[in-house]
Amino acid sequence: MTTPPAPARDTAPTPTRAASVYVHAPFCARRCFYCDFAVSVRRAGGAEEWLEALRGEVALLEREGLFELADALDTLYVGGGTPSLLGPDAMSGLADVLGRERLGATGFEWTAEANPESLTPDVAASWCAAGVNRISLGLQTFHEPALRWMGRLHGSEGPVAAVRAARDAGIGNVSVDLIFGLPASLGRSWDEDLGRALDLGVPHVSLYGLTVEYGTPLGRAVREGRETPVDEEQYRAEFLRAAEVLVGAGYEHYEVSNFALPGFRSRHNAVYWHGGPYLGLGNGAHAYAPPVRRWNHRDWTEYRESVGAGASPEAEREHLTAQATRLERVWLGLRTSEGVAIGSLPRRADALLGRWVAAGLAARAGDAIRLTTEGWLLLDELTVDLDQVLGADADLGDGPHTA
Ligand code: SF4
Repeated sequence: MTTPPAPARDTAPTPTRAASVYVHAPFCARRCFYCDFAVSVRRAGGAEEWLEALRGEVALLEREGLFELADALDTLYVGGGTPSLLGPDAMSGLADVLGRERLGATGFEWTAEANPESLTPDVAASWCAAGVNRISLGLQTFHEPALRWMGRLHGSEGPVAAVRAARDAGIGNVSVDLIFGLPASLGRSWDEDLGRALDLGVPHVSLYGLTVEYGTPLGRAVREGRETPVDEEQYRAEFLRAAEVLVGAGYEHYEVSNFALPGFRSRHNAVYWHGGPYLGLGNGAHAYAPPVRRWNHRDWTEYRESVGAGASPEAEREHLTAQATRLERVWLGLRTSEGVAIGSLPRRADALLGRWVAAGLAARAGDAIRLTTEGWLLLDELTVDLDQVLGADADLGDGPHTA
């Protein structure tokens, strides 16, 4: 008697289950002086065409086979662009596109970004009713001349009204973005901005250092000598001062750019920092189904037309090698206050880590090595140094360490 052959195995790759989703909102009422994000300028509206495009992209997911939406999402992050510009009904529409039944799990975090001038009481109340439970507010500064220089549309009282609108609607979990490294010629007081941000009483603060991107009006102005970027010393001093003030006020400096009161860390961003899978929807959105990272067409019209024609909006993808994944994990780990497990690094890194510790750029925390605030200022340089050690060694995690 012969044994019947085993049935052929289905070799189609299993789609990655996405429990964390990023959705890009493409529109801004005006492009800021320094911005090179994937935005399309529009005074208001656009929610219907945005939702229609997203509906099309979600329908394509099944055919592509790379992702499937989890039955219950852990985190949803709507960034932009300016999501609050889409009007009060956009988040409810998004809930329909993704499936309302996916959005109610215990601990589910739904963040939406807003700018002060468009986070009206009406928008905040509708967002809360739709299920948004965290708002990230693009405050940047309270300094009127700096706001005008940046091309922002709100005044110094805008953030106060926006935070009040969020709270009155029932959303107390508000994060504010503050920008540092503005040109000294603007005369902005960083201490005053930090103080006024603290006065808002919000549980989360994110810092952004102004960078001069080549293709922006600011980049052009710097090349033509009309603007002078901030010098390194001021940049460094403002970052350190922010850390001092915020930590002194009880915030945990839990990632290079992020501070939270206990219990208010961003759960969505933690997925990025820990190398977890996430789906990205919308123009320019990135997605990660380890080891594949892919991103959509950056241009709104190209993205929209692609989805409208029933074609994937994917612009490109890359397959990360095991070594690239490992290096990325180290870089991401060094961004966080948890740091990197020393046992995951080769022994040949010990001398380098020892030098960091001696220079006050890193510290041991149990079995991990983490950067200090001074070290975070040099994050990119330190990562390059470590990359040179790790890149030459395929056998990571190879025994006891001395660092
Ligand atoms: S609001 Fe944000 S996304 Fe929009 S133009 Fe300004 S910086 Fe860019």
